[in-house]
Amino acid sequence: MLDINGLTVTYGLHAALQGVSLTASKGEIVVILGANGAGKSSLLQAIAGISEGTVSGEVALAGQSLRQMKSDRIVEAGIAFVPEGRGIFGDLSVWENLMLGAYPKRARASRQENLEKVVALFPKLAQRRNQTARTMSGGEQQMVAIGRAMMSNPDILMLDEPSLGLSPLLSGELFENLSRIRETGIGVLLVEQNAKRSLAIADRGYLIENGLITGADTASALLSDPAVQKAYLGSG
Ligand code: ATP
Repeated sequence: MLDINGLTVTYGLHAALQGVSLTASKGEIVVILGANGAGKSSLLQAIAGISEGTVSGEVALAGQSLRQMKSDRIVEAGIAFVPEGRGIFGDLSVWENLMLGAYPKRARASRQENLEKVVALFPKLAQRRNQTARTMSGGEQQMVAIGRAMMSNPDILMLDEPSLGLSPLLSGELFENLSRIRETGIGVLLVEQNAKRSLAIADRGYLIENGLITGADTASALLSDPAVQKAYLGSG
């Protein structure tokens, strides 16, 4: 289990996260909802060890503290991150991107097995294996980014706004794919603008406002909560 306790991130004098505590386990989808600037990206970046701010508090995975670890060791510990904007290598081929994902030691022995999982999820990536990543559509690039993260054999996959810029049809496919990733036993920690679709596939959710957790419940309870509907689902 990923266990975040009292996590604080400050940029100079500005506290972007003010003591956030949450959990995410293998085999579940946990969504974090919040307005622009609420601190969602700051949270994922701090967990991934790539925060530009000053971080305090505790981040642990299966009881092992990650707080003093560099980002590559955090990947080794079992956390993969797909940042906003995807972070793929545009000049490299689809296959090269996937193989770079398998670089961590924890992933090397299971490379073939993970590749089979990724191809089962995204058959298009096998068909387009030699294509330069940047020449692919936004939806296909998102597949490369998620596929590359899965190649690191994670226990927890974190995604920052993966549906951003995708058509309704493609974001529908993306959310379906996240459900299928959960079925493989991976835990998914998701930051999303698309509250309706993400709550529809999630097990649990947290609301974050001005760097504080202001709500936490099952996804179905959040979906039917009038305050959540008003703030995040565009109905009152
Ligand atoms: P968005 O959906 O707009 O990305 P968010 O919920 O992910 O919003 P963050 O990006 O975490 O929010 O930002 C939280 C606050 O921290 C904002 O006020 C933002 O301006 C500030 N912030 C984020 N990154 C930095 C940084 N590298 N340096 C200084 N301030 C930052």
